[in-house]
Amino acid sequence: MSGTLIDSARNALSEIEEAGTLKRERIITSPQAPVIRTRDSEGVENEVLNFCANNYLGLADEPRLINAAKQALDSHGFGMASVRFICGTQDLHRTLEERTAAYLRMEDAIVFPSCFDANGGVFEALLTDADAVISDSLNHASIIDGIRLCKAQRFRYANNDMADLEKQLVAAKDCRHRLIVTDGVFSMDGIVADLPAICDLAEQHDALVMVDDCHATGFLGQRGAGTPELRGVEGRVHILTGTYGKALGGASGGYVASAGPIVDLLRQRARPYLFSNAVAPAVCAAAIEAIEMAEAAVDERRRLHDNAARFRAGMAAAGFTLIEGDHPIIPVMVGDAALAAKLADTMLQHGVYVIAFSYPVVPKGMARIRTQMSAAHTPEHVGRAVAAFTQAGLEHGLIS
Ligand SMILES: *Cc1c(COP(=O)(O)O)cnc(C)c1O
Repeated sequence: MSGTLIDSARNALSEIEEAGTLKRERIITSPQAPVIRTRDSEGVENEVLNFCANNYLGLADEPRLINAAKQALDSHGFGMASVRFICGTQDLHRTLEERTAAYLRMEDAIVFPSCFDANGGVFEALLTDADAVISDSLNHASIIDGIRLCKAQRFRYANNDMADLEKQLVAAKDCRHRLIVTDGVFSMDGIVADLPAICDLAEQHDALVMVDDCHATGFLGQRGAGTPELRGVEGRVHILTGTYGKALGGASGGYVASAGPIVDLLRQRARPYLFSNAVAPAVCAAAIEAIEMAEAAVDERRRLHDNAARFRAGMAAAGFTLIEGDHPIIPVMVGDAALAAKLADTMLQHGVYVIAFSYPVVPKGMARIRTQMSAAHTPEHVGRAVAAFTQAGLEHGLIS
């Protein structure tokens, strides 16, 4: 038995490798930052610019967060060795939930081990087979999995396509509750969901709106409260999910923010909350500090925006095709999967760490290098990245 399973694993791996989509994890020996140290297969260490982290506000190595975590280790210990409802809830967990809710201007929030878990638990806990969930076709894997785990009827609409959303709302009209769910920002494209239109349609068709704001919380909108703030629909989104693992320090943890009774019911029913360990105290303490910092991060948001604008302008001038927008996720379109992978390798040789994305993560023939800006990048870092892309693009005939 064991022989055959190992054999089929080996076969599956060679198929992945032949398809050119085998992911090899690069070892990093420094903290997460705009400049990182990587170790290659021969054990040689190199300093490179990092343009693929979700470190939008540059908080991943922020001394204030590190200090908050250190203090919490002393005051609250290392681990909880319990799920929340048994003996895993400290004052820090509740403070983090209250701070999260206040920041997002929602009634309450509940912390999960990750946003993957938040999305994995939210649908099954709230919806039954009498209900409908209407999901954008480009939603994150965790939303897809969460929907699979619940008994509600499933409807899918084409990405950000409001005519199709309306069609699906009509198709779902006999269901008891209709929940529209969308990513606030589609992570492969850096495109913001059309929330005003989604909220309008939801109100016309008596549906609810859920937004997963992982690639927005902390840096989109005046206060960094995310896509509802950016698009002026605060108060019209009923359920918000998000992560502490991206802009808000980048460690781990996720949340659902919503009305009090929704949050209370999730505490009773959401399986990843009930059956997985409480987030470590040090991580909670640093996440609380991260929210304080994000709320005040006016300069960082401006720098992030400026870096994105600088990179977009430089890359367009060099002749690259980008996906338009003004999000710090900036996809550099390549097309062919193998070429995208080669381009990323060449970029690393030129001292810039970026990653290629290809099918099935993006449609066939639309392979790309997804770059991500950080407020911690300097204009000089951005200039070096553009120069490296230009050199690598010329080498591979992507630009001329
Ligand atoms: C990153 C991400 C998640 C998962 O968040 P984790 O806290 O890392 O589990 C969920 N949804 C979206 C849209 C994401 O980008």
